[in-house]
Amino acid sequence: MSQFIDILEEKCPKCGVGKVFATKGNPLLFRMPHMNANCPNCNHKFEKETGYFFGSMYVSYGLTVAEMIAAFIVAHFFIKSYAGMMSLIAGLAVLLSTFNFRLSRMIWIYMLDGKNRTV
Ligand SMILES: [Zn+2]
Repeated sequence: MSQFIDILEEKCPKCGVGKVFATKGNPLLFRMPHMNANCPNCNHKFEKETGYFFGSMYVSYGLTVAEMIAAFIVAHFFIKSYAGMMSLIAGLAVLLSTFNFRLSRMIWIYMLDGKNRTV
């Protein structure tokens, strides 16, 4: 359970103290999240090799599909037009893009690197 909270709080998988992301990004301002190369607390390197986060795109895809299905299930009670539903789904995909980017990378880091905690 604590790893789940650490993923949501974007903490380092090794020490659980340092932040993985320096900035959270903002899709409305066209700013992507910026990731620290190393943990500010324990100097743990997050990106092990080039292309390390390629697999997190599959995690991001799964998150996005789950969110859009949930949004569709809730919204189909209120929105009857096809264009309105597609606008809602597209808007949500844009608004949640930086959240999904950060969360998918955190899940990926913890999947491959999350059991190394020494504390
Ligand atoms: Zn750390």
